[in-house]
Amino acid sequence: MDFYPVAIEKLIEEFAKLPGIGRKTAQRLTLFVLNLPREEVEEFSSALVKARGTLKYCSVCGCFTDTDPCAICSNPNRDKSIICVVENPKDIITMERVREFNGVYHVLHGTISPMAGRGPEDIKLRELIRRINGEVSEVIVATNPNIEGEATAMYISKILKPLGAKVTRIAHGIPVGGDLEYTDEVTLSKAMEGRKEI
Ligand SMILES: [Zn+2]
Repeated sequence: MDFYPVAIEKLIEEFAKLPGIGRKTAQRLTLFVLNLPREEVEEFSSALVKARGTLKYCSVCGCFTDTDPCAICSNPNRDKSIICVVENPKDIITMERVREFNGVYHVLHGTISPMAGRGPEDIKLRELIRRINGEVSEVIVATNPNIEGEATAMYISKILKPLGAKVTRIAHGIPVGGDLEYTDEVTLSKAMEGRKEI
């Protein structure tokens, strides 16, 4: 292992915790930061702390937001009768890239995974059930196309159907085992178009 002073080694380790960042890149980022003017580093670190400190979740959909309800939930032009269910807040950003969806969202904050010991009560399902009223005409389940995502979709369908909600699942085309985040816009748009009732 290379020799670095303790403080620098610590910074490298912190960068290496970020997704997609290996040790080599972490070293490069660290050396880059160390070469920045002091004020810029202070600005960067305070932006990090501030963003984390003000992070809130929308009380309606569960997305991260700085206003409550979030910009999507409080937009009168969004169709509140269609709810797209996703696993994580970042999936909303992916869906919004497609630009065709004009409904609203619901973030589950996870999936049902018996293997990992996560049941329906460990995700935001109760909150979703509470949103199903006579005005909701369709719930589109856009969980990831892997075992956990499919199991979660099936469970949602089973729970919501008796409440009179039409539940659809986005079509495959998104590779099995894939992640919404890495799906291109065209594929995602096709997957939305080809959704089927479950
Ligand atoms: Zn919201």
